[in-house]
Parts: sequence; C-alpha cells; structure tokens
Amino acid sequence: MIQLRGERHRVLAGHPWVYANEIAEPCSAEDAGDTAALYDARGRFVASGIYNPRSQIVWRRYSFSSEDLDAVFIRRALLRALNRRAQNPVCRLVWSESDSLPGLTVDRYDDVLVLQAQTRALDARIPIIADILCDLLHPRALIVRNEAKVRALEGLSCHTYIHSGELRPEESVRIDGILFHIDFQNGQKTGLYLDQREHYGRAARYAAGRRVLDAFCNQGGFALFAARAGAGMVRAIDSSESALSLLRRNAEANGCARIETVVANVFDYFHQNRDERWDLVILDPPPFAPVKKRLDSAYRGYKELNLRAAQSLNRGGILMSFSCSHHIGLADFTEIVREAFSDAGKSAHILEYLHQPPDHPILLDMPESEYLCGLIVEVP
Ligand code: SAH
Repeated sequence: MIQLRGERHRVLAGHPWVYANEIAEPCSAEDAGDTAALYDARGRFVASGIYNPRSQIVWRRYSFSSEDLDAVFIRRALLRALNRRAQNPVCRLVWSESDSLPGLTVDRYDDVLVLQAQTRALDARIPIIADILCDLLHPRALIVRNEAKVRALEGLSCHTYIHSGELRPEESVRIDGILFHIDFQNGQKTGLYLDQREHYGRAARYAAGRRVLDAFCNQGGFALFAARAGAGMVRAIDSSESALSLLRRNAEANGCARIETVVANVFDYFHQNRDERWDLVILDPPPFAPVKKRLDSAYRGYKELNLRAAQSLNRGGILMSFSCSHHIGLADFTEIVREAFSDAGKSAHILEYLHQPPDHPILLDMPESEYLCGLIVEVP
C-alpha cells in the first residue's frame, strides 16, 4: 500500500496519477511493477494502481475498486475497450489510462495487432494481455513494439518482436478505400498515425481542383485523400525518406500520380520557397512541446510555420493546422494561428475546430490525455 501525504491531491479529485513527492514514504524498489492500493492521509482507501518508484509518476490508477490487475480484470478492460470502438477494424483499440490499462496501447489493423507497453506493470503482463487479445480477436499476427523512450524512465529496455503469428513480406491496410502499405516493425508509431485518419476525409472536402501542400506528410494520408478527391496537384514534404518511399508506393497503389514528394525540413522549405502559392496547406508537425519547459520554443515553432503557411495561401485558400503537444490547448493554438494570419496581413475565417478522435478517448479527469487539436481556416 502507499499513502498520500497531506490533503490536497489531484488524485483525490479523480486524476489517475500520483507523483513521488506526494506520498508519505516510498515503497521499496523491489515493489516496482507491482500493484498497490492507495490510501489518503487519514487512512481511507482511494483506488487500486500500479507502482514504480523509479518513475516520477510513482502510481497510476487502474481501478477505483480494490481489485487485482489479473487476467479477469484485464479481459474485462479489453472487452470494454473493444466495445467502445464499436468493433472498428482499424483503430487504436486500447489507450492507456483512458482504457484503465495505464501504459498499454494496442493498435488494430484489421487482423494485425500492434501492442506497446510503457509501464513496468503492464510490461510484466504482456503474456496475459496477448493471450486474451488472441482469444478475443484471433489476429493473424500480434507484434510487440516496446521501443518508446519513456520505457527508460520506467527502467525498461527496448525490443520489438513478433509475439505470435506471421507477417507477410508486404503488409497493407485499407482505410476508407485508400490502400496504405505498412511497415509494422519499423514505421513511425505502430505503422500509421491512426489519430489523423478521420481528418483525411475533411481535407478531401476542400481539395478538388486545388494546389495542395501536405507538410509533415509521413506516409501521406492527407496527400492521398486530397489527390483522390481531385486536387490539381499535391506536394508532400517530410524529413523522413523512408516515410516518403512508403508514400510513393501508396500513391502508385492508389493511382494518385499527381503527388510529388520532397524530402526536406519544412521550415527550410518554406524559407527557400517564399514565392510559392497554395490553395490548401496541411501542417501536421510532430509535438514541439512534449515537455512543459519547451513551451517557448514550441510557440515560436508553431508561429513560424503558421505564418509561412498563411503567407503562402491564395485568395480562397485553406489552412488545416494541427498541434499534438498536450501542453498547448485549442485556445492557445487558436491564438497562435490568429497571430500568424495577423502578421501575414490576412484576415481569415475559422471553418472548423478539430480534435483527437474517439478511439483516443480523453479522460475527463486527466488533462494530459488531451493532446491533438487543430483548425481549418479560410482566407476569403
Ligand atoms: N501527417 C502525418 C503524420 C505527421 S507526424 C500523417 O497523417 O500520417 C510528423 C511527421 O513530421 C513525421 O513523419 C516526421 O518524419 C516529420 N518531421 C519531423 N520534423 C520535421 C521537419 N522539421 N521537417 C519535415 N518533416 C519533419
């Protein structure tokens, strides 16, 4: 068991984490990865969680009840996660605290599952989790991609392996009629940026007949959907040549000959091509503020990108701009975009606010679970 020190703690209002400086006396390092009941300063039970004294976040809740993190609990949590996604065949199936399994993510690509564990307790339970997933979904292959940098903070090493089944020499998945080649073992994330898939269709709505720039394209989800929707031309930029080579294969497989790929740093690209004009620009950069102390430089990064994009828009042009830094909320991000258009000397309308999709559910009591926001803005 662990006990809170003092009265004022977010965990007492429903937040799922406890930091090292909030507890009365640390458990021994031998308990790392175990479950531990949490009690308040007066000795009343709060919730059941996982414990790791090596991490700054020493305790993470998995249940408000007193219960073990055993096969019965995990099966129930996985079934709830599955039902929450309405049996969606391509989605994030499990997302950590939002699905009561702190540190576990599972992505589902039809009959291939990709699992990641980022906490000691869930890492230790991979065999149980994998067995239950195989029993519930009978995947053709289950891959374990334990490579996130945060594993080091938990004292875990990194390794990727095929837990069961087999991968084909060429893997692909179809999303809303578009075929994506997937590199499950080496591609970014678990193969695709599943959190953006619902937004590809939004981009497509504005793409017909237009000059489209997909900046930070990765495998080009936005570019492919824009091209299929009849864009006049599409240029897709990323600093990763391997992502662009998958994009080129995707473009060929989907008959999207109008996509040009450019390997470049997007900041440099805008700097070197100031005279280019576009009708639809998509900006989907990596998180510039993964930690709070990088907030200032993150603001500058988002501001510069959005300014360059605003300057490059033709009359009637549209910017679709995202942030996946959870330290920057929609209100802050809107302000950055507002300043960017103001500095560019252009007025604009906000057409749509965008958020992370429901298969990455935001836990109401955990602001950290909200990370993706975006805007669609039109220059009249
Ligand atoms: N829009 C993509 C996801 C983008 S993720 C999709 O829907 O799949 C961010 C991408 O930015 C990654 O592919 C990464 O390789 C790329 N990247 C990171 N920094 C970059 C930079 N400075 N210039 C160009 N690309 C960059």
